[in-house]
Amino acid sequence: GHALGIETSCDDTAVGIVTSSRVILSDCIHLQSHLHEPKGGIVPTLAMVSHRKSLPTVIRDAVEKARVDVLRDVDIIAVTRGPGLGPCLGVGVDAAKSLACVLRKPIIGVHHMEAHALTPRLLNPLLSFPYLTLLISGGHTLILLTRRVNTHTILSTTIDDSIGEAFDKVTRLLNLPWLPGRSGGPGATLERYASLGDASKYNFPIPMTKDKSQLQNSNMSFSGLKTAVKYLIEEEKLDVEDEEVRRDLAAAFQYAAVEHLIGKLRLCIKECCKGELDVRKLVCSGGVARNGFIRERLNKLAMEYDLELFFPPPELCTDNGVMIAWAGIERYQCGLIDDYFFEQIPKWPIDSLG
Ligand code: ATP
Ligand code: FE
Repeated sequence: GHALGIETSCDDTAVGIVTSSRVILSDCIHLQSHLHEPKGGIVPTLAMVSHRKSLPTVIRDAVEKARVDVLRDVDIIAVTRGPGLGPCLGVGVDAAKSLACVLRKPIIGVHHMEAHALTPRLLNPLLSFPYLTLLISGGHTLILLTRRVNTHTILSTTIDDSIGEAFDKVTRLLNLPWLPGRSGGPGATLERYASLGDASKYNFPIPMTKDKSQLQNSNMSFSGLKTAVKYLIEEEKLDVEDEEVRRDLAAAFQYAAVEHLIGKLRLCIKECCKGELDVRKLVCSGGVARNGFIRERLNKLAMEYDLELFFPPPELCTDNGVMIAWAGIERYQCGLIDDYFFEQIPKWPIDSLG
């Protein structure tokens, strides 16, 4: 069967159509970054108005591009139910419910982070449950034990900023231009600078490594690291318009952030990749999973622990409609169908599913 997936949780309006035999028929997106970049962050009401304007034509484009007859060929409608910005989620949920109800198709409300976590299964039928999932994105930093569809245990999460937020804030501290939406946004710019810099020029402390109790604590923290970058610039009166300073600061920040991630991942691997559970697979997804330095570092870690590593292709790491359609198919196959009255859930912990 075919699924149509609608994603409006944040600033991009995205619709994708996917088949249960893993063919991506269309992947359409309307970007809003030009609206929010001058404001220095996402403005929820602007985002909602933009979704309301664009969603109908993005749905039409996705249907035309897929060359499907919605009534005949589309079997389920899937939509992001949460987490995300309430007013933005509402636009997608309303459209999806109307479509599904009128067309008499089942509707599936999808958890956005579960969709990120299931995306690699769309591309690789060999990826079976259970697996460890590292979700690194604009709003979340999570290490999960993904047991099956709808069942994820949180092993580690950030106690303050997400890693994506930290990348975005440091991009701003360094006064760097943003790459446009689907090229990765601010984080991608920072990575480009970091790849040309010398990480050993500056030494940022790796978060949560002060003492033994911090080292053994599986939680993550990225706000202190961002503040350390800010203070260093101020105290040393560093010239952030200087390209070399920018590159070296970007590299040193990226190094510390990724070392932190790897350290906490190690704790979770030690917990789950042994004994009865013996997890042998690691998935990394979410916008920050586009980062080449992180991919390289994770490759090494996976080799060290003899884990199989799975990433979505870069364009399916950041938000898209395809991942929502695929998560819809996965949930449908487990009998997880919703009614036509459900509401969005802006704050929705992934371990409360099921
Ligand atoms: P969430 O999924 O938590 O709701 P979101 O949907 O807004 O958040 P995504 O689209 O999954 O986030 O990811 C966007 C984030 O990914 C941004 O913070 C962006 O800067 C970051 N990002 C994109 N490319 C890269 C990269 N190459 N290196 C680091 N960060 C990146
Ligand atoms: Fe996302």
